[in-house]
Amino acid sequence: MGVAVSQPAIFLGHGSPMNAINENDYTRALKGWKKPELPPKAILVISAHWETEGTWITGMDHPQTIHDFFGFPKALFEVQCPAPGDGKLAQKIATDLPDQNIQVDQEAWGLDHGTWAVLCHIYPEANIPVLQLSLDKKKSLKEHYELGRQLNYLRDEGVMILGSGNIVHNLRAIDWNLNAKPHHWNVEFDEWVAKHLEDKNFQPLVESPLKSEAGRLSIPTLEHYLPLLYVIGAADPRDSLDYLFEGYQNASMSMRCLSFG
Ligand code: ZN
Repeated sequence: MGVAVSQPAIFLGHGSPMNAINENDYTRALKGWKKPELPPKAILVISAHWETEGTWITGMDHPQTIHDFFGFPKALFEVQCPAPGDGKLAQKIATDLPDQNIQVDQEAWGLDHGTWAVLCHIYPEANIPVLQLSLDKKKSLKEHYELGRQLNYLRDEGVMILGSGNIVHNLRAIDWNLNAKPHHWNVEFDEWVAKHLEDKNFQPLVESPLKSEAGRLSIPTLEHYLPLLYVIGAADPRDSLDYLFEGYQNASMSMRCLSFG
């Protein structure tokens, strides 16, 4: 048998931060996910909500819970994610990838809601070390994908790669009714992405997501889409693709969640 410790690369749509404290089909699906038999040694999260100059990785042993939003109920500001960090692993990743010039952050960041709003469903015990890797604002789509490829080796070292964003995310077209009918371009782009994931034909996902009208409406800004590029970059040809959840929220978000492993 092969090496049993290999961890999956997963992409989780997160949608509204309210999903952290509410219960719906999506949160039930995350809670019910059949996790790897052997828990990961650590989880490396690429969140839509940490954009920086250059690439940073959190290096603190006790990252703070960041409530990076406004206008939500007090209960959401009270959520804490006590998962530890792993400073040694952060340093090792920075050292392993010298060309990427990854800087280790000791104070600026922590765990933002892109991270804790999904982890609180899949690993509520919060006992696995969690690190965040930032999105360099200057990188092209191809460069984000390339960094994802370079992170692939971590899976065989027991590190789960977790991208947290949304395949479709357009706040200007949002309907505050969670179960509102999705816009047709939302469904169109979400299915276009799914087809390429299923074919493991990643090139169009990296090179031409904005080619169609549906794509331009679905990802008017790129930050929620970019974590997907890390996950497909970290995918192996031998991986099978599973969906943890397929569906939509608030008319303008795809909540599709997937695992390569
Ligand atoms: Zn978000």
